[in-house]
Amino acid sequence: MDYQQLLHDVMDTALRAPGRGRPADYIPALAAVDPTAFGMAIATVDGEVYGAGDWETPFSVQSVSKLFTLALALAEGGDELWKRVGREPSGNPFNSLVQLETEHGIPRNPFINAGALVVTDRLLELTGDAVGAVRDFLRAEAGNDGIEVDDAVASSEARHGHRNAALAHFIASYGNLRNPVDSVLAHYYAHCAIAASCRDLALVGRFLASHGVRADGSRLLTRSEAKRVNAVLLTCGTYDAAGEFAFRVGLPGKSGVGGGILAVLPGRGAVCVWGPGLDQAGNSVLGVAALDALTTATGWSVF
Ligand code: GLU
Repeated sequence: MDYQQLLHDVMDTALRAPGRGRPADYIPALAAVDPTAFGMAIATVDGEVYGAGDWETPFSVQSVSKLFTLALALAEGGDELWKRVGREPSGNPFNSLVQLETEHGIPRNPFINAGALVVTDRLLELTGDAVGAVRDFLRAEAGNDGIEVDDAVASSEARHGHRNAALAHFIASYGNLRNPVDSVLAHYYAHCAIAASCRDLALVGRFLASHGVRADGSRLLTRSEAKRVNAVLLTCGTYDAAGEFAFRVGLPGKSGVGGGILAVLPGRGAVCVWGPGLDQAGNSVLGVAALDALTTATGWSVF
C-alpha cells in the first residue's frame, strides 16, 4: 500500500467537496487559527507514520482529549466509571444541560461535555493530576516530549466557560463529582487545550487499533475495554452527527472543535485529520470529507 500517494489523493478529493464551514469562535483563542489549514496522517500499528499537508502543525485537540481521559480512567479505575456516566448517544448538542436534570446528574456518555467532566473528575481522583496524565500519555505514545498545554487557549476557555461551569455545578449538586468544581474545570480546560499535530494523534491512536496495547508493547486496556471504547467512539464520538459519520466513514472516531478528528482503523492503525472549518454539528468539514474519501478509496471500515 502506497500510503503517501493515498493521502495525497484523498486530500485532493476532499478539497473538491463544496463548503469549508467555520472555525469555532465561542472560545476566542480558537478563532485565531488559519482557516485554510488542512493536514492528515496515518500511523500503522507497527509504528510507521505517513502525512500530507499541515500534518506536523500542532492544533488544539479539544474534545479529542476526551478519548484519552476515558481510556486512562478505565485503565486506572476499571468499570466503576460506568456507574457515573452512561454510554448512549445523547441526541443533543455536546454542551446541552437538558438531560442532566431528568437523568439525575448521570451524563448520557463520556464524550458530551457533561460526561467528559465526570471522566476528568474520575481521572483526577485516580491520579491526582488528570491533565498531567493525558499529556504524559500523549508524549509517550507519540514519542514527542514537546506536546504541551496551550495556556492561552485554556484561559480563554475558562474566561468564557459559563456553560461548562454550569454543567459541572449541576452534576456536583447530584453528588456526581468527587473533587472541587473549580479544580475539575481547570483540568478539563487544560486537557482540551493540549496542542498536538495529526502526526502525534495518529501515533497515539494506535492503542485502539491494537486492542489496548501501547506503543511500547505494554497493555493499557484489556481487549474488552478497548472494544468498548471503540464502540462508544462509533456511537457517540462525533457529536450529534455520529449516525451520519458512521454512514459516511464507517470507523470509530472522535472529533473536537479545534477541527481535528482521530479515527481508528482496527488492526491496521489510526488516522488523524485536521481542518478548522466546522459543520453545524461541530465536526471538521474537510476532516469528514477526507475520512469519507479514505474509506471509499480503500474499503477500510468496521462494517
Ligand atoms: N473545551 C471545549 C468545550 O468544552 C471542547 C468542545 C469540543 O471540542 O467538543 O466546549
